[in-house]
Amino acid sequence: RAKTLGKARYSVFDKHMHDKAVSAMEIEHNLRRALEQDEFELHFQPILSARTGEVSGAEALIRWNKPGYGTVSPSDFIPIAEETGLILPIGEWALRAACRHVRGWLDAGREPLTVSVNCSARQLQRQDLPGIAAALLEEAELDASLIKVELTESAVMGDVDHAISVLNRLHAMNIKISVDDFGTGYSSLAYLKRFPINTLKIDRSFINGILENDDDRAIISSIIAMAHSLNLSIVAEGVENEEQLALLRDLGCDEIQGYFYSKPLPADRFMAFVDARARSLREAGDEALEAG
Ligand code: C2E
Ligand code: MG
Ligand code: MG
Ligand code: MG
Repeated sequence: RAKTLGKARYSVFDKHMHDKAVSAMEIEHNLRRALEQDEFELHFQPILSARTGEVSGAEALIRWNKPGYGTVSPSDFIPIAEETGLILPIGEWALRAACRHVRGWLDAGREPLTVSVNCSARQLQRQDLPGIAAALLEEAELDASLIKVELTESAVMGDVDHAISVLNRLHAMNIKISVDDFGTGYSSLAYLKRFPINTLKIDRSFINGILENDDDRAIISSIIAMAHSLNLSIVAEGVENEEQLALLRDLGCDEIQGYFYSKPLPADRFMAFVDARARSLREAGDEALEAG
């Protein structure tokens, strides 16, 4: 972005660009304040086992509760946080908050759930991500296997050797690794084999077309087959209806995330979802027993 701005020819007609730059500066300023004033919050979107229908974990998604405005969605501030480098402290905040939530749930006597935390390219580009993660896990006295880091293809494809070395260190610590929005970038599975990853998350755009578009279905089906042969698990994101769910189950998808089950929820409502889900599975099981 900075490059594009530098190249721009300034003219009186550039008011739109000027406004954009000013508002980016304003957002940067506000983001700094948001960190100081603790205005961020994590929401949790349930991730369910396709096979059993149980909640296996959640994706932690950041929200900004901006005073006098309401909730700002991450797509409106994460890109600016990335450009300004503020994603480093914000990313650390998100990882710490996720660890604390998981610790709180364990302390409340709940079954362990895996929480996925999004991580930007900028965070991966540094050497200190594994060290930061280790410190935060220790702070929360948490088993590393309960945290999963989500990185996009483009994040890992930047400086490949560096990415591999950082990911190897995370892997050695027992932190799990997902490739987010899989299918939207340029990496191939053969290439990704070089990375110590556990999971592919198929991008919502493929799930969107899965019922109508034969190509999308063929792509997903072959991604799943190849992923399984490489010992990777598959999460489908953006599952919005029962038909998509049924098809993804048939194709062998491992886990499901999407509005069909639930939007991202504040922590207390996520826990209520987990409880309600467990209850309804139990009741369905009891009914099946009675009927059988
Ligand atoms: P993502 O990591 O791919 O997260 C999935 C996004 O898809 C979330 O949007 C989620 O609410 C949305 N989604 C899930 N299921 C459905 C569905 O069935 N239909 C539709 N239409 N949407 C669905 P959200 O929460 O607005 O986050 C947007 C993006 O912001 C995330 O995409 C991620 O790239 C970024 N992000 C969020 N939190 C963080 C964070 O803590 N750190 C970093 N670096 N990025 C974050
Ligand atoms: Mg994600
Ligand atoms: Mg995603
Ligand atoms: Mg996405």
